[in-house]
Amino acid sequence: MRVDLHMHTGYSADADFPQTIDDKIAACERAGLDIIGLTDHLDFFRRRPPEENRDAESCVREAWEKRRPAGNGGIEVLAGIEIGQIHVDPAADDFVRTHPLDMVIGSMHAMPDDLDIYFHEYEKLDCDAFLHEYFDEVLKMEEHGGFDVLAHIDYPLRVMKYDGYTPSFDHFMDRVEQVLRSCIDRGYALELNAAGLGGWQKRVGPPQNVLYEYRRMGGERISIGSDAHTLAAVGRGFDDSVRNAQDAGFTYVTVFRERKPHFVPLG
Ligand SMILES: [Zn+2]
Ligand SMILES: [Zn+2]
Repeated sequence: MRVDLHMHTGYSADADFPQTIDDKIAACERAGLDIIGLTDHLDFFRRRPPEENRDAESCVREAWEKRRPAGNGGIEVLAGIEIGQIHVDPAADDFVRTHPLDMVIGSMHAMPDDLDIYFHEYEKLDCDAFLHEYFDEVLKMEEHGGFDVLAHIDYPLRVMKYDGYTPSFDHFMDRVEQVLRSCIDRGYALELNAAGLGGWQKRVGPPQNVLYEYRRMGGERISIGSDAHTLAAVGRGFDDSVRNAQDAGFTYVTVFRERKPHFVPLG
């Protein structure tokens, strides 16, 4: 089964606009995908209101209206959302609890200063300390719960690189193991995310040694997503993700329907 369980439409403030849900589903059908998850952004912060979504209410309502069940002979469409920092604002739990959703992606985008990891000035920071703080936050988010898929744990690697500094988790594998342990114990699916294909790493994440470690520790649940913010990027990186997953010993991908896990053969 060809799946893409992480993508954005025009509802996400950082995605191509206009870009309707209907446009997105049609693009996914053209790309030959079998199961997709609509997962627009909704980020929560400590000291400012939620954002990253142009109209979160309409977004999840329309996604739920447009969802299509499995077994109809066509593409299966799941209604989801990508919640940033679900652990920092009780309104995030309220939102998830009060809206019908197939899947919730849990993401760490913004650090405790409410600034997205993307926007920090790494030349001026102690990057090791930054990464420790990042792992602390991911662990808090995992402990908090309320989501199904643990998104792009290598997000900092994508954006921290500057001249003279190449970020890596290799010296942080003890912290990575803590994150993976929590992921396994709480039943989240670890996401293989293709956004790194467009950056300096030119590959899907997480790094392969992280995937090996997850498998060695007993991890079984993985998710696969393009993180497409355009129509053209749907399905991006799927074959790479399958190859990486199979190389690490995974044989199925976990799909959440009405927040319950189902297991679908890889590839
Ligand atoms: Zn994200
Ligand atoms: Zn995303």
